[in-house]
Amino acid sequence: MAKFEIAEERLFNVKICFKCNARNPPNAKRCRKCGYKGLRFKAKDPRG
Ligand SMILES: [Zn+2]
Repeated sequence: MAKFEIAEERLFNVKICFKCNARNPPNAKRCRKCGYKGLRFKAKDPRG
């Protein structure tokens, strides 16, 4: 269980670029790949 929780935290502790869908660090201000400012946190599935 603990392992799973850690994995989940790692999974969601990331920002996704709207433009190219690259993963970025959660503190990123813009995409490290394309420079786009539209970043979102990886959404948690509400049904999960
Ligand atoms: Zn990008």
